[in-house]
Amino acid sequence: MRGLRTGLVEQSDFAFGTSSRSSRLLHGGIRYLAQGKIGLVREASLEKTVLHQIAPHLAAPLPFVFPTYRQNRAWKLWQLMFGVKLYDLLCGGRNLGHSSWLDAADTLNSVSGLRSAGLAGSVRYFDGFTNDARLVLDTLRSAAIQGAWILNYARYDKAKLDGLWRVEVEDSLTGERFNVSAKTVVNATGPWADGLAHSAVKLRLTKGIHLVVERSRLPVTDAVVMTEGSRVLFAIPWGDRTILGTTDTDYDGSLDDVRANAEDVAYVLAITNDHFPDAHLQKADVISTWAGLRPLIASAKGGPSDISRSHEIKNPEPGWWDVAGGKLTTCRLMAEQTVDRLVASAELKAMPCVTADLPLLEEVTFSGLLPPEVTREAVMHFCRNEWALHLDDIMIRRTSWHYYHRDAHVVAKQVAAWMAECLDWDAARCQLEWERYQSFA
Ligand SMILES: Cc1cc2nc3c(=O)[nH]c(=O)nc-3n(C[C@H](O)[C@H](O)[C@H](O)COP(=O)(O)OP(=O)(O)OC[C@H]3O[C@@H](n4cnc5c(N)ncnc54)[C@H](O)[C@@H]3O)c2cc1C
Repeated sequence: MRGLRTGLVEQSDFAFGTSSRSSRLLHGGIRYLAQGKIGLVREASLEKTVLHQIAPHLAAPLPFVFPTYRQNRAWKLWQLMFGVKLYDLLCGGRNLGHSSWLDAADTLNSVSGLRSAGLAGSVRYFDGFTNDARLVLDTLRSAAIQGAWILNYARYDKAKLDGLWRVEVEDSLTGERFNVSAKTVVNATGPWADGLAHSAVKLRLTKGIHLVVERSRLPVTDAVVMTEGSRVLFAIPWGDRTILGTTDTDYDGSLDDVRANAEDVAYVLAITNDHFPDAHLQKADVISTWAGLRPLIASAKGGPSDISRSHEIKNPEPGWWDVAGGKLTTCRLMAEQTVDRLVASAELKAMPCVTADLPLLEEVTFSGLLPPEVTREAVMHFCRNEWALHLDDIMIRRTSWHYYHRDAHVVAKQVAAWMAECLDWDAARCQLEWERYQSFA
């Protein structure tokens, strides 16, 4: 698009990292207003409207009801009333809907089952709902159409500067190694970013988990903000399901195997039951969970929720760029800023960035906010056109079927049979794929 020859290697499947494990919101971050981070909120607020323009199939306006309770002094109704109006203005006056406020009675009418004791009222404001993994995949499909060279299951191992960067990449499936030469290398490896040779990034990782329950068990129509002191959690409608989350706890475990533990699940259920006392949600109601790591720019100070969500672009060696931190919402902007800086630094000839103005994809296939229907045609499409190599690639990231369907293992058996047909798997490979999927599940 800008006239640069570009390649991307991903050690696992595309969106394997945090970008398939988020809250799926396109948001300015209303809670950061309370921390006085106006610039950060404005940047992300404008960007959420850009994504609505360029990828309407992956962005829908989502109203949020934020109830306040007299016993929680961290969130006062009058401050939120001011905050949501400022929030609308920070979108350049073009937020996805106009904010409003409700008294206690109207709040209870609009959110069925909400705890009434101590309720002061609520504000209603707009952010966007997306599908994080699909946003990654459709961005890559768009890049491939523009000529980018894209490879999953290929791990950057090491690199040395020798006029050009000589980069050693390992095929994660076969162990074969190959070299790539490039004028510039961009390290955009999220939670892994500070572990790479040449990286100058310092991260503080925090874990966040989500639970999925039947929508009928918590029938929210708008998203609902639930609070615990100054922390906020969400109940988000997702088709016939409701997503609950998230947590924010320091993490020092394996980056490759991040899971919701019993304590995380109990915490989210307890906050939800506190806000919806008649729901009596229990572990058995949980259809699925996911857990991800926030790659936050390191700061030893403050609790996990106080650390800045802003991004950082660094250039520690000639032609080596680190881009870290930030949010899913600002992914396009982070890419634009990184490419602008590396083009200027290396004096490369490049066209101006146009990604804020052009549709992400002209033709959308089996991609959207909700999982597609389980069909052979969809599975064939993912294998042939979207780099799917493993059963979990389709069940988890291409479709979210794993998270959405209570009988996901039945769906997975069928999907494995279709993949076997398309990718020529024998019985032994089918068994291996099944075991691999079970280990993620
Ligand atoms: C619980 C939670 C909720 C969130 N909710 C939201 C939200 O609602 N809205 C929002 O805007 N943001 C949200 N975020 C933040 C957002 O999800 C992240 O900022 C974003 O996804 C990070 O993207 P990334 O590309 O930097 O990292 P990742 O998505 O993790 O991608 C990095 C990739 O690099 C690959 N990699 C690592 N090492 C190598 C190597 N050596 N060679 C090749 N590849 C490698 C990894 O496999 C990985 O897939 C949330 C985060 C969390 C944890």
